[in-house]
Amino acid sequence: MAAYLVALDQGTTSSRAVVFSDRGQVISSCNVEFPQHYPHPGWVEHDPRDILDSQVKALKEAVRLSGVDVGEIAAIGITNQRETTFLWDRQTGECVGNAIVWQCRRTAPIVDQLVRDGNSDMIRSRTGLVPDAYFSGTKLKWLLDTYNLRDKARNGELCFGTVDSFLCWNLLEGRPHVTDATNAGRTMLFNLEKQCWDPDLLKLLGIPKECLPEVVDTAGPIGRLDPEILGRPIPVTAMAGDQHASLFGQACLKEGSVKNTYGTGCFMLMNTGSKPVMSENGLLTTMAWRINGQPTYALEGSVFMGGATIQWLRDELKIIENAAESEGLAQSVNSTGGVYLVPAFTGLGAPWWDMYSRGILVGLTRGTGRPHIVRAALEAIAYQSADLMEAMIKDSGTAPVQLQVDGGASANSFLMQFQADICGIPVVRPRVLETTALGAALLAGLGAGVYSTVEETASIWQRDLAFAPRMVEADRKRNMDGWHRAVERSLRWAQE
Ligand code: ADP
Repeated sequence: MAAYLVALDQGTTSSRAVVFSDRGQVISSCNVEFPQHYPHPGWVEHDPRDILDSQVKALKEAVRLSGVDVGEIAAIGITNQRETTFLWDRQTGECVGNAIVWQCRRTAPIVDQLVRDGNSDMIRSRTGLVPDAYFSGTKLKWLLDTYNLRDKARNGELCFGTVDSFLCWNLLEGRPHVTDATNAGRTMLFNLEKQCWDPDLLKLLGIPKECLPEVVDTAGPIGRLDPEILGRPIPVTAMAGDQHASLFGQACLKEGSVKNTYGTGCFMLMNTGSKPVMSENGLLTTMAWRINGQPTYALEGSVFMGGATIQWLRDELKIIENAAESEGLAQSVNSTGGVYLVPAFTGLGAPWWDMYSRGILVGLTRGTGRPHIVRAALEAIAYQSADLMEAMIKDSGTAPVQLQVDGGASANSFLMQFQADICGIPVVRPRVLETTALGAALLAGLGAGVYSTVEETASIWQRDLAFAPRMVEADRKRNMDGWHRAVERSLRWAQE
């Protein structure tokens, strides 16, 4: 009998559902957008109702479009925007306010205080994370403080969860209160090495353990979908944060394998095997996944302005009409003519970590034109990614043999070729670019026994195109040096 796998991909701006065959082919998909709420400058919220409604709608519609008999769906996997924080009443299911989205900066003062009090090293060594408002821990603390809910939480009357937990609690039979290890690893409350909620961190943030979900494996039995939704209690057998699912969907199963997702920002993850590697170069240490109780770890770095740099060319500079046009324009000149764009519009992340750096365009001459600037913008995405790769090589002591790519901007062949040139390794684009959903589906297949080993899922990954590096080493070095000189000039700009 045919077996189908369904991925629920709950993202920041939309909820998706994708129906896959057990050979990893996309049968159908559906995307439902929902509103963002910005109640104060720097705050970002989601209405929990919108998350549920959009996700259920996407699921029903994707299944309808697939024409697949519901009885042939072997399992469902959940993947999600990470760190976004929900708190709800265990009896009624009612949420305490809106969900606080990962982008929300409201808890920056709490983090500043933690850092001033000298907790950075402890947080880093236990969780692998750099203390930041991004992660769920301080968001949960804020909710408990603001609504004066510590006693209720201590009495077990409240449930905390990230999107995966929230979906499971609301959509599964018997309302399991669970999260998977990849999502737990983004709370700043989870001990990476011991694989449990860290009592010292809970104490530091005043979080009662009674409100925390049980941490389960990324793949394995979690529960069954409420039969009211699709008419059958389909097993839910995987949960993973989006970047972790995409690492799995890219078949980066071996130590040293790396993927980079080129979306609005870029997210690069390297599988570092069974031991967490603590970064000396500003990267995060995170879970890759946990299967059969065995944790696999990863290093993670992100580029804030990835595809967003191209949106800036389109929407602010208005020198292109659409993102795809950037490819031909960049290729219409042989080089940028020495021009570099450092898109540090919101500061720079790893390995620089300078929130005061700002964007600069340097090396302009009388001959600089539109194509040079467009090319410099695309190259900047590749240079920033190359800096992350360099940091990963330094931290892990492993040089990857290739870079696996996905995300909207990976469609740009100029960018991919330049990335291969500047990293000096092949860049490989898979046939299925929906690697996040694919990863969730494959993990679900593994959890449901459709595949018997992790290796079996890897055979499903198929290559579309490989870009071989062809830049000579001297040019590579000269270009990279130029980029670093440009970055140097952008640093601390807003501070001086
Ligand atoms: P997200 O999931 O973050 O919304 P996507 O993976 O959908 O992002 O990718 C969208 C981003 O990719 C946008 O920032 C867009 O500017 C960029 N992009 C899309 N197509 C191209 C292209 N052909 N060349 C360069 N950038 C592109």
